[in-house]
Amino acid sequence: MAEKTAKKEIFPLLPLRGLLVYPSLVLPFDVGRDRSIKALEKAMVGDSLILLVSQEDGQVDEPGEDDLYGVGTITRIKQMMKLPNGTIRVLVEGVHRAVVEQFVRTEGWFEASVSARPDPDEIPESNELLALSRSVLQQFEQYVKLSKKIDHDKLAAVSDISHPGRLADAIADHLPLKIKEKQELLEAFDISSRLEKLLNFLSDEREVLELERKIHQRVRKQMEKTQREYYLREQMKAIQKELGDREGRQAEVEELREQLLKKSVPEKVRERIDKEIDRLERIPVASAEGTVVRTYVDWLLALPWAQEAPTKVDLGRAEKLLNDEHYGLDKVKERILEFLAVQKLTDKQSGPIICLAGPPGVGKTSLATSIAKSLGRPFVRVSLGGVRDEAEIRGHRRTYIGAMPGRVIQGMKQAGVRNPIFLLDEIDKMASDFRGDPASAMLEVLDPEQNRTFSDHYVEIPYDLSDVMFITTANNVYEIPAPLRDRMEIIHISGYTELEKLDIAKRHLLPKQKDKHALPGAKIRVSDEVLLELIRHYTREAGVRQLDRLLASMCRKVARIVASGDKQRVTVNSSLLHEFFGPPIFHHGRVEEMDQVGVVTGLSWTEVGGDTLMIEVSVVSGKGKVVITGHLGDVMKESAQAALSYIRSRAHTLDIPSNFADLVDIHIHVPEGAIPKDGPSAGITMATAIASALTNRPVSHVVAMTGEITLRGRVLPIGGLKEKLLAAHRAGVTKVLIPHENEKDLRDVPDSVRQDLSVVLVKHMDEVLDEALLDTSINYPNPLFDADSTAIHNIPTTDYLEEGAHQ
Ligand code: ADP
Repeated sequence: MAEKTAKKEIFPLLPLRGLLVYPSLVLPFDVGRDRSIKALEKAMVGDSLILLVSQEDGQVDEPGEDDLYGVGTITRIKQMMKLPNGTIRVLVEGVHRAVVEQFVRTEGWFEASVSARPDPDEIPESNELLALSRSVLQQFEQYVKLSKKIDHDKLAAVSDISHPGRLADAIADHLPLKIKEKQELLEAFDISSRLEKLLNFLSDEREVLELERKIHQRVRKQMEKTQREYYLREQMKAIQKELGDREGRQAEVEELREQLLKKSVPEKVRERIDKEIDRLERIPVASAEGTVVRTYVDWLLALPWAQEAPTKVDLGRAEKLLNDEHYGLDKVKERILEFLAVQKLTDKQSGPIICLAGPPGVGKTSLATSIAKSLGRPFVRVSLGGVRDEAEIRGHRRTYIGAMPGRVIQGMKQAGVRNPIFLLDEIDKMASDFRGDPASAMLEVLDPEQNRTFSDHYVEIPYDLSDVMFITTANNVYEIPAPLRDRMEIIHISGYTELEKLDIAKRHLLPKQKDKHALPGAKIRVSDEVLLELIRHYTREAGVRQLDRLLASMCRKVARIVASGDKQRVTVNSSLLHEFFGPPIFHHGRVEEMDQVGVVTGLSWTEVGGDTLMIEVSVVSGKGKVVITGHLGDVMKESAQAALSYIRSRAHTLDIPSNFADLVDIHIHVPEGAIPKDGPSAGITMATAIASALTNRPVSHVVAMTGEITLRGRVLPIGGLKEKLLAAHRAGVTKVLIPHENEKDLRDVPDSVRQDLSVVLVKHMDEVLDEALLDTSINYPNPLFDADSTAIHNIPTTDYLEEGAHQ
């Protein structure tokens, strides 16, 4: 082919912009310039051969001869297509190189005469060429790999070319060379030098590519680096903050470790605390869990695990202290000393637990304090009043927010030793509800079998309570849950008599208050009469709590007078007392002033001591209805029914119609209706009141009574005799009727009280009525009587069988 065209000398010429066509390569391009189109047309008219020469500067629109390179490519036009925009798309195939000899036409289009420079078809084999071609191919392969712009098919096609000249051209065509460089390769007619040049370009390109890659990588790395740095910096900030706080945490942990080191604790506990401290160390400072663990560790460290107070029991000292600090209470003190003696012998708290039972203000707490003082052991007091949640005894699990150990463990922390005297106040006031049974938890606390390993939900580690000396107090032992009560040795402390109160006030309360208010003896004087007045008319209690409060108040008032400089010393007399506390609040002797029908003084016993209890009965026309009012409990109501049944059975002896129940309504009322009352001990009182109301025989107002009644009239024993008699005494009663079986309890009643009271022991209701009902009859409105007080209904004349009388 080359030979054929080589002979021809003149070709139409088409200047190429930014393009170059190598021989044997096919290339499409668009032609828009007039001159070029004309050249194409010229070629098409001939043999479709056209000379393509690149412009040196692609920007030049109308190139002249000088704008064109001197070497071009003779190409064959394979296809021509007119595009809608007027340009022509041509597909050409390079034929051979040609040197422009001379421009023969420049008007309209270019035509030039050329000398052809085709590559020889056959090239003599030479090692140099072979080596060059191989390295060109190799470099090209690497270039392809790097550039990623040329696909592998093209690489394969190029590799197949065996002609070194064409190989060079094909590769040159694929390289992104400048036109100038491409032209250089076109002008390299010698194949070896063409390959060499190409090799240079290739390696340059490769280098460029390599550099590009590196730059790219560097840029990417840079990007990654900045990004990473950003993250790291953020992390660093967090870490630094953490570290800052960490230092604090570290110091905290060290301090805890030191504390632990100094503290003597059982090995197991030490391990646990150690573990918790380790845990604390690992917890992020910001985490709320840290506080939880810290509080827990603090608790474990604060608890006395091994610390002990000396356990020597000095009975002599104990006795002296008890006597010094408490007036009277001989039996109680004796019991306490016995208890302590046993302690001394066994050296362990294994026996029952003391329960000091009695009304408020009788010195239960202060006795317990004295016990602790005499034993030289720390004293803690925990009130159980109103505790209804088991968790209050046993603590909350740590999973709860704000969880705390129970009161027992809290008490132990407060005590600071493992063997304190632990007062559980008002153990009878614990209630149980849906939140668990605090009593059963308490049982575990008090049971020596179980309290060795007392488990508090919060502490988790079993705590040994076996060395603790528990003392409990209660107002009403019957309210203590039975299993707990069984564990206790109950020591009853009953109320005080007036004289006892006077002594307590003189010897203990007043001196204590004087001390507290910085009033030496000389500054305040209070005579016994005034104290007694205070006791009688301003307090009404079994204990001395209110009295103590009044004395404190009195001292304050006196201190004020002394401090104001008005007086150097103050003698509190009756009128000053009135000035201080107003007119008397209670009237000594609350019993009725006169004998009345249907009104009887009973004696009751409550948690706050004994008291008098009025019972009123009135009878009105009716149909046998019985009304009972005054906030009475079931037991008391039943007791009223029993009393009524008894009276019905005694109608004959009492001179009342046996069918009275069909004629009248009976109303039984116990005044002070707001106060709930219960218990069977008002049985005989109610029976007496009913009998009095039905018979119109008044009841002696100086008589008071207490006793349970059976249907047959038997009088059964009652509890709290001492308190009741003290109350009767306080109230100015002179005669009391008590069940015969309570005789033994009279020993407990102070002589001063017994001297003033005539106590009648009764076995049967008949005796009660004999003692209480007066023989006269009062004209009191009663449907069973006429205006002149004679019975209007016939008394049945049939023989009346006395049931169970005088058993
Ligand atoms: P309780 O615990 O029984 O309710 P407290 O122990 O609180 O009563 O006693 C109240 C006050 O009365 C205390 O100041 C206490 O010292 C004093 N007290 C009670 N009984 C006596 C007593 N027998 N001798 C001296 N002081 C007493």
